[in-house]
Amino acid sequence: METLGHYIDGKRVADETRTQPVFNPATGSPAHQVALASTATVEATIAAAQTAFPAWRATQPLKRARILFKYKELLEKNADRVVEAIVAEHGKVWEDAHGELARGIEVVEYACGAPEFLKGEYSRDVGPDIDSWSEFPPLGVVAGITPFNFPAMVPMWMFPMALACGNTFILKPSEKVPSASLILAELLTEAGLPPGVFNVVNGDKEAVDKLLTDPRVKAVSFVGSTPVAEYIYTTGTAHGKRVQALGGAKNHAVVMPDADLDNAVNAIMGAAYGSCGERCMAISVVVAVGDAVGDELVRRLKPKVENLRIGNGTERGLDMGPLVTGPHRDKVRGYIDLGAEEGAELVVDGRNFKLAGHKEGFFLGGTLLDHVRPDMRVYQDEIFGPVLAVVRVQDLAEAIALIDAHEFGNGTCVFTRDGAVARRFSDAVQVGMVGINVPLPVPVACQSFGGWKRSLFGDLYAYGPDAVRFYTRRKTMTQRWAVRGVEKAQFAFPSNG
Ligand code: NAD
Repeated sequence: METLGHYIDGKRVADETRTQPVFNPATGSPAHQVALASTATVEATIAAAQTAFPAWRATQPLKRARILFKYKELLEKNADRVVEAIVAEHGKVWEDAHGELARGIEVVEYACGAPEFLKGEYSRDVGPDIDSWSEFPPLGVVAGITPFNFPAMVPMWMFPMALACGNTFILKPSEKVPSASLILAELLTEAGLPPGVFNVVNGDKEAVDKLLTDPRVKAVSFVGSTPVAEYIYTTGTAHGKRVQALGGAKNHAVVMPDADLDNAVNAIMGAAYGSCGERCMAISVVVAVGDAVGDELVRRLKPKVENLRIGNGTERGLDMGPLVTGPHRDKVRGYIDLGAEEGAELVVDGRNFKLAGHKEGFFLGGTLLDHVRPDMRVYQDEIFGPVLAVVRVQDLAEAIALIDAHEFGNGTCVFTRDGAVARRFSDAVQVGMVGINVPLPVPVACQSFGGWKRSLFGDLYAYGPDAVRFYTRRKTMTQRWAVRGVEKAQFAFPSNG
């Protein structure tokens, strides 16, 4: 069986003693092995990235952007190759994999604006004969640690911006989905990126811990589950690094009595069951305002959930593929058992779904739980599967209070025809990304992505303008060329008074 290795200093390297299998979730069989980097391998990767840094930093932003332009073209040309790798290891359906790659390419497009976003700030005449300006130099070697659920897009939230800003980069992808990152790395080399500027180390905690503690790594971007995000943040910052660590979620969709229910139901279906619910922006809770709305929503959702088109993501026109691994499928199934035990009404039960010809695949059907209460674990925990919970409240204030009491604050949305309700909701709710009649309010590349509360540890969001600040360090110059002759010594603190 083939072992996928790393991409270090411009070439593939596959020499590792520890490996683990990578499964094709649709068949349930191991497709290949992935190498798990030792501390020594990560050490060598950091050294390569460190060596490549001075020349890359000195490369004009325009020339860096030109490589990224070329990269965008290559990504578009090779899109099916990347998508095939995503579908084979993650299991999401073909069109959805294309969608995530397209959103990643949008970040590359934004990163091509490097000459604009790195041009700095200038203030003339801040004092007598004195001008002042700020520059935004890169940090050095920076690292990205990414989850399984977006094998291409989440790495691309990070490295295009980091590279555009003049840093060198080490990506540690999820060991469940190693292939897409290796293709992304090869295409960067083909686009003209010098060796060592972008590297991929596959691995687990051993590799991550080396990245978190080595003083040559200046910043770490992380996306994954909340317990690991918190660990990454506390360990990385304790070692003097800048860290942004994006964590888990439980995203609520509030449906008001005046909502356009036809659109709301379709929007909720896609947002809850798309990618098998394995999205950090997936809608996992519907908050029905009023029992009448709750009853009508459940009546309309039930047949749609029962008729989800589920299959091997290599086929076209499907709604949902398998879950990523056997243990994850079992965990999600365990939550459906728990929901029933806790007293939720199991309106649609996906536990017994079987796909003909794919008996060993990690499939589950869509599940709909009604009358879920905030004290239930199926409400509190991130399930990360095709399980939608319906909670009923009496008014908007109760809906907002419910959302605010939850530990996570990644995304949320409200369905309403009333602008004042929409405004009140978006002003008050303690969540980082808010949709008004938009179920997955994932910010576009010229905005930035991040949640509140325990969905994000750190100060700056991913990609967009926040990424420029995250991957650079402000340096402010104050310069005087005296044209007014000799000035007296000043012992009082200089001011413009
Ligand atoms: P995960 O936390 O298990 O793994 C993420 C990364 O951390 C992987 O690269 C993994 O190898 C590494 N890792 C895992 N355990 C570690 C440990 N103990 N020490 C050091 N490194 C470790 O997450 P996952 O299961 O791959 O992804 C799903 C999670 O990611 C969900 O919770 C989802 O909400 C979250 N997610 C969040 C966002 C966001 O933007 N907030 C986006 C996508 C996914």
